[in-house]
Amino acid sequence: MKITGKTRFTGILGYPVSHSLSPAMHNAAFEAMKLDCRYLPLSVGPKDLAAALTGLRALGCRGLNVTIPHKRAVVSLLDGLSREARLIGAVNTIEFRGSRLIGHNTDGRGFARAFGVAFGKSVKGRRVLLLGAGGAARAVAVQVLLDGGASLALWNRSVPRAQALIRHLRSVFPGRDLTRVANRAKALESAVRETDIVINATSLGMRAGDATPLPRRYLRRGLWVYDLVYSPKETRLVREVRRAGGRAQNGLGMLLYQGALAFEIWTGRRPDVGKMKRALLRELTG
Ligand code: NAP
Repeated sequence: MKITGKTRFTGILGYPVSHSLSPAMHNAAFEAMKLDCRYLPLSVGPKDLAAALTGLRALGCRGLNVTIPHKRAVVSLLDGLSREARLIGAVNTIEFRGSRLIGHNTDGRGFARAFGVAFGKSVKGRRVLLLGAGGAARAVAVQVLLDGGASLALWNRSVPRAQALIRHLRSVFPGRDLTRVANRAKALESAVRETDIVINATSLGMRAGDATPLPRRYLRRGLWVYDLVYSPKETRLVREVRRAGGRAQNGLGMLLYQGALAFEIWTGRRPDVGKMKRALLRELTG
């Protein structure tokens, strides 16, 4: 694609960002739709975040994604927030609306769309056990509650972080069935027994030799598992759930649909998700 005098740009603000798959995915969509726009990796450290936003606004940036470590810190620098971003308390997408910067969070809806595509159903009326309490878990937890999950049980390695997320969820979803699973093997085992769906939002599974977040003996036929980790393609958790007769999906779909939703916010157009997915798979297989 040629850079012209009219070429606009979008990008991802993070630190680091060199590992990000988003440039490949979004540039494939711009190319497929013949939009004169590019998507750039923008490596910005925490102390330069405010200056970077001011500069990007002055440069006519069309829209941004935001990733670790800025998703929460950026909230106070924006002019407005979408409902999801407010509920989650974090932003992964910025819309440049005239001179105003509006924060969105497409991680939750990206998860919901990917879950629906993978399992043919939503979480509505189902019991959900969520592993993790980081940024991704926060977005998924809010989406599960927005989508009518019957109950949400939360387990995390660090107890204070789990408690803080539960407190936040109780404040924005009063009266919903929310529990914290204690950090004891027996408690986790019975939480798995009493759930329909497990969502792994820990980073366990990304590295070769990682422990699995759920021992094999906890798994069973009929259990549905969505693992947010998308590389390797088949994590140990996904493999062991399938072997136990359950259904499991990795997180590639969430990555794809959170990106497609951000693209729609910036351009007002629906991207070709098939082309975006192929670009992601090309990057992942090197
Ligand atoms: P984060 O904010 O850094 O949170 C990391 C989470 O993983 C925390 O709950 C942390 O627990 C837990 N964790 C890390 N190492 C662990 C270990 N050895 N044992 C048990 N728990 C451990 O990261 P994040 O942004 O939420 O991302 C979490 C995962 O989701 C990553 O693998 C990321 O790639 C993936 N993700 C996927 C998508 C997608 O689109 N598919 C989107 C976002 C994130 P503590 O609180 O105890 O540290």
